[in-house]
Amino acid sequence: MSHREKDIHGKYIGNAIGYCHSEVHPGALNREIAYKHKCLAKKCSNLEKYDEESWRKKEKCRKRR
Ligand SMILES: [Zn+2]
Repeated sequence: MSHREKDIHGKYIGNAIGYCHSEVHPGALNREIAYKHKCLAKKCSNLEKYDEESWRKKEKCRKRR
């Protein structure tokens, strides 16, 4: 992951973990941008995850019975 990509604001970032193919704001996403942009929360259908692991939050396993 050394190559740099344009993020949704047109800036180049080198630590992208995904890419949003939305027509409104296409571009690469790093953790910070993904968080601010709330791609996951918005359930962006155009979101491409490069690496599932990076997107996984540290969620506590709730025991449900
Ligand atoms: Zn998006």
